[in-house]
Amino acid sequence: MRSPIVTILASAAILAWCATTAPSAGRDPNAPEVTVTRDGDLWIADYVLPADAAAWAFIRSALARESRQPWRPGQWTLETPGVVMERRGHLDVVRALDGGPVPRRLKFRLSPKAEDLQADYDPALMFTDGSVAMFSGHFDLMPLVSAEQADSLPLDMKDVDLPRFNARITWRDRAGPVLFGGERRRNPVSLTGTDYVLFGRTALVDSPRLATVIDPGLPGWIGSEIGEFAPKVADYYARRLGPGQTDKPTIMVSWNGPTPHLRSMGGSVLPGLIIMAFEGDNVVEPSNEVADHTRWFIGHESAHFWLGQTVRYERSRDSWITEGGSDLMAMRAMSEISPSYDVRSALQEEVDDCIDLADAPVAEANSRGEHRAYYACGAVFALVAEGFQKRVTGGDWFDFLKPLIDASREDGVLTRQEWFEALDRLSGDTTVRADMETLLDRGSGDAATLVARLLDEGGIGYRLEDGKVRLT
Ligand SMILES: [Zn+2]
Repeated sequence: MRSPIVTILASAAILAWCATTAPSAGRDPNAPEVTVTRDGDLWIADYVLPADAAAWAFIRSALARESRQPWRPGQWTLETPGVVMERRGHLDVVRALDGGPVPRRLKFRLSPKAEDLQADYDPALMFTDGSVAMFSGHFDLMPLVSAEQADSLPLDMKDVDLPRFNARITWRDRAGPVLFGGERRRNPVSLTGTDYVLFGRTALVDSPRLATVIDPGLPGWIGSEIGEFAPKVADYYARRLGPGQTDKPTIMVSWNGPTPHLRSMGGSVLPGLIIMAFEGDNVVEPSNEVADHTRWFIGHESAHFWLGQTVRYERSRDSWITEGGSDLMAMRAMSEISPSYDVRSALQEEVDDCIDLADAPVAEANSRGEHRAYYACGAVFALVAEGFQKRVTGGDWFDFLKPLIDASREDGVLTRQEWFEALDRLSGDTTVRADMETLLDRGSGDAATLVARLLDEGGIGYRLEDGKVRLT
């Protein structure tokens, strides 16, 4: 029996939790310092906190995707006596048992595991040769006036005025240098919270347009597919949109083994870096379906070097702009590069999922754990915008996006307001935007009717079959 391809995308979180400090080479006196050391199977994180505080919260505290429980208790053990780590609101919080300030030195023992999070980066990627890539952002801490303060903090803390500083992390491997920023280095220091640091020997393979770090256990055909497709799609985007965040990304791929009856692919993107993890017996042999899916995945993640990194969204509630937009970028690029690609089925899936998930406000889907709504409804909105672009100028999705990206290159933020203003200019009034805003802000008990009306407005062909919207 063939299993469906399980895809796990974590890029929704990109920059949503961006800390307030700009990266700088100097030492920030407010930044927590931490040394992460690997000594064979023993992993230790030693913190030196910059100030006394009643509690410290991990800025990134997403739940595990499957269990919907905090992941840290299963991977991080506090070894400092008199201190506990507990869940408060949306955050993992550290406090002293006696109610006093948290000791300035904290020690955690780490047991890295392959575990997917809800809309955040996997804490660790495990390679079959024993190499482990650790995500730096999960080490960032912020001080709280009390542990209780965390109870009332929102999921998206963009508007919350709290001091946040990226941790200054020193990475040490007793076995030798680590791979950081494309180079093997001894005890490098990271400052931005947006890196994967590789402990171990997996090789970095360099080529003019791409660097890869591929698990030696990964089925060989997948690595070849990636190496061939990634530069093509990046070139296509650059041709249509101008320069993106990087000219030469690194793609890091881990292999979680040939688990029976499974075919799974997960991943995410960071500045200059795409992360992927494959698993399952059904990806071992070459197939068109898995190849298409791998290409689509790289297409989506590479799109974020433009839509997500050259320009990012303002708030995580606006991630429909970057996720749905990247989905449509990937589909259009695929159609161009791989003519056998079935774009209609891919679009149909977006329409179906958007209708399913838009019964509640799409903009708040993250608070319901329904991140898929951003991809699906965002792609439907992009498709409608593309429809207007086609009608007015004969152009396509990239022609809609390019001026939006160019206008925001300087401040780096593409706001919802800017996106809708571009749509209004093409559509001539605000009725189309109003329908989209209904789905975003209120949701609809009859989302199918609203989505069908949007398709009508955008001139997208479909028919109704037993109340279901079928693209034609
Ligand atoms: Zn994405």
